[in-house]
Amino acid sequence: MTQSKYISLVEIDNNNILLYSTFNTSLIVLPKQIYESIFVQQCYENDEYVSQLKSLGFLVEDDTAQLKQIESIRKQNLSSGEQVVNIFSTNNCNARCYYCFENGIDMVDMSEQTADATVEFIKEYYPQKKLKIIWFGGEPLYNFSTIIRITKALKEAGYLLSCHVTTNGSLVSQEIIDFLSLNYDRVSFQVTIDELGNDYGKIKRYIDCDVQIAFERTINACHLLIRNSIILSIRVNYLDKQIEAAKKVFMSLYDTFSYADKEKFLIYLAPLTLLESCQGCPDSSNHLLELLRFHYEKGVYKNIRSNKCDDLLSLFNLMPKGGACRAANKMHITITAEGKIFPCNRYAKYNNYSIGDVLTGINKNNSFYKFFYNWQVVEEKCKTCSILPICQGGCKALKTLYKKKDFVCQRKDIQSDLLRMFYTKLFNK
Ligand code: SF4
Ligand code: SF4
Repeated sequence: MTQSKYISLVEIDNNNILLYSTFNTSLIVLPKQIYESIFVQQCYENDEYVSQLKSLGFLVEDDTAQLKQIESIRKQNLSSGEQVVNIFSTNNCNARCYYCFENGIDMVDMSEQTADATVEFIKEYYPQKKLKIIWFGGEPLYNFSTIIRITKALKEAGYLLSCHVTTNGSLVSQEIIDFLSLNYDRVSFQVTIDELGNDYGKIKRYIDCDVQIAFERTINACHLLIRNSIILSIRVNYLDKQIEAAKKVFMSLYDTFSYADKEKFLIYLAPLTLLESCQGCPDSSNHLLELLRFHYEKGVYKNIRSNKCDDLLSLFNLMPKGGACRAANKMHITITAEGKIFPCNRYAKYNNYSIGDVLTGINKNNSFYKFFYNWQVVEEKCKTCSILPICQGGCKALKTLYKKKDFVCQRKDIQSDLLRMFYTKLFNK
């Protein structure tokens, strides 16, 4: 008998310790002396507690079995789940945000030939006829003709489509909404608004609009989306030290769009680190606890899952996963405006990380392909890390592109705080 390696714990008061299995989400509160006798002194004579801890996965017969199970889930996750393709209709953009991780990319539109080759590639690569397209860029709406071309061809090929448009919002029009609503079963938009008024215009530095009217243009676009019942999330990017300013932006936007149906409308804060880490991954914030508390208080992300416990585990980043992120799935790839294929859009401007292209397909012998989609846990420190089932080795882009291996592990430092926050919210302490 031995202890599972995948346990997080926190002292919840002077007498009790909360144990959480990151492997299977079991929770147990143990009196301190019981915890010490079983987990510190490794005395397994208290039958009642020991059998309960065994059935919950805190004690195990063989300490490698759980790792094997984690690897098997990772393997399964690689090719299961939703079919999603991230397509850059263009690398070009009408804004010049200082923080854009694509700064330096070739500003080209997807050509008609590449669009047609993209359709042919999709028909071969995605066997099911249900497909989600994330329109990305650059500013995807800057080259809407490519969106029309690919959409029509995939519809003709019998695909049932849904889409998510990641946009700065400036070019949204009724015609665009009408086309998407007609051709996609589900349409959602993500619009980034980092500042209010003229400060917004100063950050975006649009090349087609004066600073003074840029904010109003984007706000009007959001109103238009809401009036058309389109699912809309507004993302407020902020630098780590400016979370208070970001909260003010959040509250102001919250008031502006207070009339929106909350089932179809969401505002959230997203930390920028300038380390170019995944901006969709709040793990990278030094203010993660504060951010999550704010999101909890404002009801962001509630009702995602079926019960409060799972909602809270998910909100506080405590839920085990099948892979480090959405990119840990071969069914979720990125195609750039040049037709190059990447496992994650972070690599889009680095051709040496391409795993293929739409004309020749994916090269499975490519060493980066093998590295990115390796389901085995390679790093020794990860194998025994208490949060491996949650972190899954972390963002590969951080490790490969930015050489920020240790940065990934920072979230371990706040694991107990996350657990305490989860516990207090779950039991309204
Ligand atoms: S990357 Fe760091 S935090 Fe993540 S599983 Fe590995 S050791 Fe743990
Ligand atoms: S590899 Fe990193 S940057 Fe890419 S999707 Fe995953 S977490 Fe984000």
